Amino acid sequence: MLNHNLVTYHQSEHRLPAGEISDAAKKIINKLVEHNFQAYLVGGAVRDLLLGLHPKDFDIATDATPEDIKHIFKGKCRIIGRRFRLAHVYMGNSLYEVATFRGSDEGDRVMKKGQIIRDNVFGTIDQDAIRRDFSCNALYYDLQEHTILDFAAGVHDLKKGELQLIGNPNKRFVEDPVRMLRAVRFHAKLGLKLTDDMKQIIINNRQHLSNVPTARLFDEAIKLFHCGNMEIAYYTLTELKLLPLLFPQAARIAANEDIWHDFLIQAFRNTDHRLKNGQSVTPVFLTACVMWLEFLPIYHQFINAGKNSHDALHEATTLVMINQRENLMVPKAIQNGVRQMWILQLRFKKMFGKGVYTTLHHPRFRAAYDFLLLRNEVNNDLSQKVEFWTNIQSMSPEGIKSLIFGKKVKRQKVSYDL
Ligand code: ATP
Ligand code: MG
Repeated sequence: MLNHNLVTYHQSEHRLPAGEISDAAKKIINKLVEHNFQAYLVGGAVRDLLLGLHPKDFDIATDATPEDIKHIFKGKCRIIGRRFRLAHVYMGNSLYEVATFRGSDEGDRVMKKGQIIRDNVFGTIDQDAIRRDFSCNALYYDLQEHTILDFAAGVHDLKKGELQLIGNPNKRFVEDPVRMLRAVRFHAKLGLKLTDDMKQIIINNRQHLSNVPTARLFDEAIKLFHCGNMEIAYYTLTELKLLPLLFPQAARIAANEDIWHDFLIQAFRNTDHRLKNGQSVTPVFLTACVMWLEFLPIYHQFINAGKNSHDALHEATTLVMINQRENLMVPKAIQNGVRQMWILQLRFKKMFGKGVYTTLHHPRFRAAYDFLLLRNEVNNDLSQKVEFWTNIQSMSPEGIKSLIFGKKVKRQKVSYDL
């Protein structure tokens, strides 16, 4: 038992704004407690509330097993997961993750090459705390007592503004290499410092990322893209030599050509800005931006080999996606979205006739137009297109009609250049 490490903070000391906790999360916790189980708010929500931020979700930890939880919440509960079996409880319009305390007995875990493959051994709260990744993610808020239970000096590290891994960093990064990407994300998103020691350990262990299922890596990449401060995350990924393990070609091109480095920074800033303003974002956009770096030279190669622009675009897209699969698997739906955004770059060249309507009403028009603006920042040749597609959006139907069908319209031959 590690209870001797437990520090309990009372309301007067921690000042967590409990009013910000969602009513549904409170309801779930209270119900578990009524059934004589322990239940706490845990993880990112406690951390974010202590930092004065609005948590994006409220995770719950309990000593009730997934079956107990199912029994209590019946139709509102689904048991999910293989690697980590846990309960999803639906309440209000939201979904809450209710996880049973995990044990730390390594003998019972399913491991492969030092990596955790399955971890469904249940345990006590103190065991649960130390198998979490960072000290600031191992804080438990007790709604009944209004106390914070801290088993790993998380409150202290938060006050210092440092991200600290629990336990032996070498071992913990090997057992789940995704923690390296999580470190970058929490650093970028929360401004928590990565110590020089931690940076070096990440650099030393970075190759282990290639053991992570490529679909899980894509999920993490998207969480990074949308962490709200991807510009910082990008610099950190580069500094820690992680970027080449996720997007090898883009990382190489951005490192060698300033223009593409600037392009990526601008793309990340756009997304960061949208998120700060509460605007919607789609994983398709930044995936398309990052992969564009690899796509463009292949596209030009195909054009030079005599393919028409349509074929070159499709074949280059397919090739880029296949190449990317080795490191990080882009799901089919996102691949399709990226392809559509790129096809629209070709369509933007056609600024007359009926096709203009098809482009304008395409479901990916918005993302593709934003992408065009971004491309224009590194390639001024696009300014005529930018002007056309910007103006047309605020024109009346009659105005558009006379613009695209009018006698003065130049029906120039559309070139193959994107
Ligand atoms: P956010 O939801 O803001 O991205 P979070 O810390 O809540 O951050 P989640 O992925 O929701 O992150 O995970 C919830 C909690 O589960 C974490 O706070 C941490 O305690 C634990 N956890 C998640 N992933 C891991 C991991 N790979 N290794 C160890 N513990 C983890
Ligand atoms: Mg969370």
